[in-house]
Amino acid sequence: MTVAWSSPPLPMPWYPARVEDAWLETRTARTVVLDVPGWPGHHAGQHVDVRLTADDGYTATRTYSVASAPETGRLVLTVQLVTEGEVSPWLVGEAREGDELEVRGPIGGWFRWDESMPEPVLLVAGGSGVVPLMAMVRHRSRVGATQPFHLVYSARTPDHVIYTNELFALARTSPGLRVDRLYTRGGLPDEAREPGRLRPEDLPAVDAFPAPPVVYVCGPSGFVEAAAGILIGKGHDSGAIRTERFGPSS
Ligand SMILES: Cc1cc2nc3c(=O)[nH]c(=O)nc-3n(C[C@H](O)[C@H](O)[C@H](O)COP(=O)(O)OP(=O)(O)OC[C@H]3O[C@@H](n4cnc5c(N)ncnc54)[C@H](O)[C@@H]3O)c2cc1C
Repeated sequence: MTVAWSSPPLPMPWYPARVEDAWLETRTARTVVLDVPGWPGHHAGQHVDVRLTADDGYTATRTYSVASAPETGRLVLTVQLVTEGEVSPWLVGEAREGDELEVRGPIGGWFRWDESMPEPVLLVAGGSGVVPLMAMVRHRSRVGATQPFHLVYSARTPDHVIYTNELFALARTSPGLRVDRLYTRGGLPDEAREPGRLRPEDLPAVDAFPAPPVVYVCGPSGFVEAAAGILIGKGHDSGAIRTERFGPSS
């Protein structure tokens, strides 16, 4: 589908949303599917505000990237548990089919991809920063785009990789899609790379692509800063690097 590139109307309306389905992706990350009547659609990479309202009228609002490829009337989010948090424990541990909340958006004018962009794409994800990048991978597959897409995904351990089966499958069936995983705390027994934070050799140089890629980096602030520094050192133009930060630096 095509979604207009214009900004949403201001003030942005809140849409009532209903939990349609939910499942665990890892022990601490859960995908929540929302039915949102009137939802206008979104671009891959955009995010939404989610508002929860308690019985006494108390509200809490947080931001979540949309994990699904663009579609109308439906939103898929994937939420990583922040143990001491207010909203993520409810979305990961408590939200049930039929529960109601509100969403506002779509939000984000720069951190988005669609098939009108012909350049190769480099995606760099730290932890749950993979969510908006997965929307791009899913959208590329859905529209049959074939330019090189290279996802470098840093997770604590293999158990922390969100969308693991889908990523394995897509990397085998989508021409031009490459997925590299790296682990910061512990990998698989046959892993050649020593566990550890992102290193220069983990990211491809600009000349590894047939043309300079558009680069999307998403994750905790410290991860995003480290990745951007490495990318510039490997010849990527800072103007081609689009970043989104998810939480406190780590
Ligand atoms: C543009 C954008 C997109 C986002 N997309 C996603 C997404 O797709 N999936 C997702 O899981 N989260 C996403 N987030 C993060 C999300 O908005 C919340 O910050 C997160 O879910 C924590 O909310 P909470 O209410 O559980 O914790 P809070 O009650 O807000 O925080 C409680 C404590 O945890 C710390 N904390 C807050 N956030 C984090 C964090 N991410 N990591 C570690 N500690 C934290 C706080 O400093 C605080 O001390 C996104 C954030 C932004 C800005």
